[in-house]
Amino acid sequence: RQEQFRALRSVEPLTRDGQRISLLMNAGLLVDLPQLAESGAEGIGLFRTELQFMIASTMPKADEQEIFYRNVLKQAAGRLVTFRTLDIGGDKVVPYFRGHEEENPALGWRAIRLSLDRPGLLRTQLRAMLKAAAGAELKLMVPMVTEVSEIAAVRELLQKEVQHLSRFGHGLPRKLQFGAMLEVPALLWQLDELMAAVDFVSVGSNDLFQFAMAVDRGNARVSDRFDTLGKPFLRLLRDIVLAGERNNTPVTLCGELAGKPISAMALLGLGFRSVSMSPASIGPVKAMLLGLDAAALAKVMNEALDDIHATTPMREVLAHFAESH
Ligand code: PEP
Ligand code: MG
Repeated sequence: RQEQFRALRSVEPLTRDGQRISLLMNAGLLVDLPQLAESGAEGIGLFRTELQFMIASTMPKADEQEIFYRNVLKQAAGRLVTFRTLDIGGDKVVPYFRGHEEENPALGWRAIRLSLDRPGLLRTQLRAMLKAAAGAELKLMVPMVTEVSEIAAVRELLQKEVQHLSRFGHGLPRKLQFGAMLEVPALLWQLDELMAAVDFVSVGSNDLFQFAMAVDRGNARVSDRFDTLGKPFLRLLRDIVLAGERNNTPVTLCGELAGKPISAMALLGLGFRSVSMSPASIGPVKAMLLGLDAAALAKVMNEALDDIHATTPMREVLAHFAESH
């Protein structure tokens, strides 16, 4: 099967009914980069920048960050990389960066909250990204956004860095795309404001599922208790896709959900046209989508999701569709 998947590397990711799907991979270190060509991914949909911080014994300095991002872009060789600003805290521990002990770290001082409280840290990172991408396209996004105002706050810092660099004669990216991760349920009731505030949205389904269902993603006792392909979560994801369409804002999904063929199929049925996953999943997901009639699946899924009397679990509806098509 590995051989079969390799053979698909250069095949265009078109569903049977002609939908073009963007298949992206997740990464975080330089060793991941060769996987771009290996897997045939179109680009990197999630680059977890905190990994550089997690494996270091001291805080990476500004120039170390810049060199690192420059190397990532160089090795990506023109394929688009979506850098995520630091997502420290929660399950991502950086030993030399200890805040106070927290009773609920997943709900605590983390990610964009921490970055906005330590603007020096965030500005250093933004500057490193801007410098590394001089002359190229820079795509970046912020994790764990709860309120749209946080996006405006980051944009303001980004603008300051752009002005600073151009005042001192540095080259700048020729194009800049700025996005937010949708991981906190509060954003579901700010969808139109969110879409208007960014160039793109990336759904972090690992955290979004954890917070939507109130189950700790790292606690095996409960993490599998509710189905990621159950009605509540699929309806929630559908609302996001519809908001993206309504506002003409590109929406991607970059959690684990994108990497399993059956759940990737469900995402395409909901209307996602861009998904990011671990490189090993690209082949199996591509094999699935080449045979998929996305419009037929959308119809089946929407009917099932809209029927409040239906008792067949969505996972079974999906499995049945996969078998019968
Ligand atoms: C997510 O939460 O789904 C996500 C992609 O980010 P991470 O797994 O790094 O928290
Ligand atoms: Mg997350």
